[in-house]
Amino acid sequence: GVSSSHPALFPDLVAGVDRPALRFGDLALTYAELAAAAGALAAGLDRSGRVAVWATPTAETAVGVLAALLAGVPAVPLNPKTGGSELSHVIADSAPLAVFAAPDDELPDALGSLRRIDVRAEAPAVPGPPLPDEPAPDSPAFVVYTSGTTGPPKGAVLPRRALASTLDALADAWQWTADDVLVHGLPLFHVHGLILGVLGPLRRGGAVRHLGRFSTEGVTRELASGATMLFGVPTMYHRIAQALPGDRPLAKALSGARLLVSGSAALPVHDHDRITAATGCRVIERYGMTETLMNTSVRADAEPRAGTVGVPLAGVELRLVDEAGAPTTDPAEVGEIQVRGPNLFTEYLNRPDATAAAFTADGFFRTGDMAVRDPDGYVRIVGRKATDLIKSGGYKIGAGEIENALLDHPGVREAAVTGEPDADLGERIVAWIVPDDPARPPAATALVDHVAAQLAPHKRPRVVRYLAELPRNDMGKIMKRSLHE
Ligand code: ATP
Ligand code: MG
Repeated sequence: GVSSSHPALFPDLVAGVDRPALRFGDLALTYAELAAAAGALAAGLDRSGRVAVWATPTAETAVGVLAALLAGVPAVPLNPKTGGSELSHVIADSAPLAVFAAPDDELPDALGSLRRIDVRAEAPAVPGPPLPDEPAPDSPAFVVYTSGTTGPPKGAVLPRRALASTLDALADAWQWTADDVLVHGLPLFHVHGLILGVLGPLRRGGAVRHLGRFSTEGVTRELASGATMLFGVPTMYHRIAQALPGDRPLAKALSGARLLVSGSAALPVHDHDRITAATGCRVIERYGMTETLMNTSVRADAEPRAGTVGVPLAGVELRLVDEAGAPTTDPAEVGEIQVRGPNLFTEYLNRPDATAAAFTADGFFRTGDMAVRDPDGYVRIVGRKATDLIKSGGYKIGAGEIENALLDHPGVREAAVTGEPDADLGERIVAWIVPDDPARPPAATALVDHVAAQLAPHKRPRVVRYLAELPRNDMGKIMKRSLHE
């Protein structure tokens, strides 16, 4: 049993209830079985340092992460797809004492110096010794590395308090309960797939079914057999939108879902509209970061509105500030999003400089994301300060709305908008287009006219470039810094 001075992060796990918790492929575990497996692993863990987790999309990853959380040992999820130098950087930076892996995982040389601990996702025959008390809310639960979209990944130290507060705020916004069963097809080394997708259902007392690898067939199968919610990134919803016109079982399964949630990058309005037209369902967008966990969401009980990430979650203070750092007064003025609340990280590991630069004097975190607000407060992200804010002809223009306008053209499959230096304008708007039919790409003039018909004239692209595909990372985020290379 667990005695505790603080409320447990996972009450049903601690109580060992006999209800479904996780399913990965053919392997299903109840809360009682998961508690036994994670508890036995936790009992033998060296508590004097961090533990890395080789985060494949398997039950072993979930058991390893829960063992670390039960033992109060900070976990460092590793992306099993990252290669040599990035992995070596993460290991050198986070200095774990050991790495959790499944018995048949082959680990790369970069992990050679670490003690390997094999995780078995099965309840042990003999119960382990009692676990330590629930650690204090400000103690570190994870070091999660950012996606590296704008520069080398930084290790964000996440306290236990942040996990509890973000998951409870999402439960409030989404009416998320123990009756919910989540369909999950995301990787497990980032906040979205791991903290929201695995720890979220476990904190609520509900269940998660992981597809191993996302497929529209898997989504159909699980939603048609009792699952109630789906978490995805925009590239998944794009695939769903593409499949829907010919796929009646998928449309029917989605229509029966209680909640479809998108995050990690902006969901194109065009994809959202196509899904709503085919299923009658809206997709709820939420906005968060590794450093802040979740900041905003459209609420489950609110009216649908494509293209917005909703309102601040319970406990989160959010403001938009201008270039001088003063809060904007006109909601239509583009400002940087700053947030403060119990959901925030404590620091970037080994980066006191970056940590200090990330916070304002009054404790708000500078997200680097730019937004406007609808008159009633709904936040609309226009892009990142570093890559998506184009300063052209004296205007500050967000890439997002131009991308949405381009994606709405029938000949466009994917679109990204950037700025490049221009003698007259300061920066000129460049549209990077993946045509729907590579043999018949839409003409540049047609695309420019299409944008000009929807948005103000200064927002039309000056240059159109065609590509076979956009560079994207594992979460499907467009890597804009490599577009110009
Ligand atoms: P790095 O910080 O290493 O450059 P990253 O910012 O992509 O990488 P993450 O912390 O995984 O790393 O991603 C957070 C970012 O993802 C946010 O700052 C925001 O730009 C983007 N994002 C997340 N959700 C949404 C959303 N719903 N709409 C638009 N952008 C989103
Ligand atoms: Mg970031």
